Amino acid sequence: MISSPSAPEHSLRLRLSMLDDARPDPRVALVTGIYGQDGSYLAERLLADGWEVHGAYRPGTSMSETAPADLTGAHLHGCDLVDDTAAADLVAEVTPGVIFHLAGASSVGRSWQAPVATARVNAVATTALLDAAMGVADRTGDRVVFVNASSAEIFGTTDAGRLDESTPIAPSSPYGATKAYTHLLGAVYRDRGLAVNNAILFNHESPRRGTEFVTGKIAHGVAAIARGERDRLSLGDMSARRDWGWAPDYADAMYRMAVRSDARGDDFVIATGTSHSVRDFVAAGFAAVGIDDWEHLVEIDSAHVRPVDPSDFVGDAAHARTVLGWAPTVQFGEIVRNMVESHMAQSVAAR
Ligand code: NAP
Repeated sequence: MISSPSAPEHSLRLRLSMLDDARPDPRVALVTGIYGQDGSYLAERLLADGWEVHGAYRPGTSMSETAPADLTGAHLHGCDLVDDTAAADLVAEVTPGVIFHLAGASSVGRSWQAPVATARVNAVATTALLDAAMGVADRTGDRVVFVNASSAEIFGTTDAGRLDESTPIAPSSPYGATKAYTHLLGAVYRDRGLAVNNAILFNHESPRRGTEFVTGKIAHGVAAIARGERDRLSLGDMSARRDWGWAPDYADAMYRMAVRSDARGDDFVIATGTSHSVRDFVAAGFAAVGIDDWEHLVEIDSAHVRPVDPSDFVGDAAHARTVLGWAPTVQFGEIVRNMVESHMAQSVAAR
């Protein structure tokens, strides 16, 4: 159920009973979703800063092959968080001072096809982790920080302009609804004394972004077309606009939330404040490989259009700027270029 290269050879029950006296260490982090985009960047950051890092991954999953992470020194625990007992036991075993909860069913599109599975991992597993963290805080009287990966999708198809922490929560997808639930539950546990930070993350990308997401699909597809391995890219609504940031910047924002000395926790919108269309992303992707005349290389397939989708999404991260001193460092064009170049480099290496 839980495997760690560094764990002693005791039964789980014995190990947990031995942990009754364990106290959370503020420099010990548990990162769920450590093989995912954000979890891997955050873990690398924590390891570089000398933290003891424990990472939970879903057994059978793997890291990005396009840009693999270096997790040397991390204690890795195979744990399917849908097993709420295993999730709670993992928290009790590690007794972390900080939990970065980044695991989740992260695709809005897929949540329409698998709403129940999305709810199990996003809503139920998060509940188990919050409650286990609260248990550690209650037992020891020590501060436990919980950074919850909330999402801009909690705001749904709003036309409220630039969205911030005061924007009404009104999700418009199963994914958004699960994130809204954990966002609100996080605030409930915060009121009980757990230092919960809801990171209201707008879209953020990197070479580690999966190809099931439109940005990863574009980067991968453009590289394949540039190499002459494919003729076309098939996309849905190219007019949709998103506020796209650089994933390591967003990991940095969550790190800053965790190391604040404030005991209470807070909600933070993390966004760049600028939106671009999917069309802009495609154009920037083809520009990265020197193709200006790209329209004939893209076909529109209505099968890729979501049932309900916000047309524009821009966040206002003024609160994060003021309280965390956070600001994005990588601009849109550079993000797209980095992604396409990584896919190009990976294919060259594979030859
Ligand atoms: P990601 O790359 O998809 O990583 C999520 C990780 O969670 C994956 O490694 C996934 O493993 C793991 N996971 C899923 N179900 C699990 C389970 N039952 N038990 C254990 N692990 C499980 O997503 P990300 O981009 O890093 O995003 C991190 C978090 O931020 C997610 O909660 C996401 O919803 C949220 N968020 C992301 C964005 C964004 O633009 N990236 C925006 C807003 C919010 P598998 O690969 O095996 O599923």
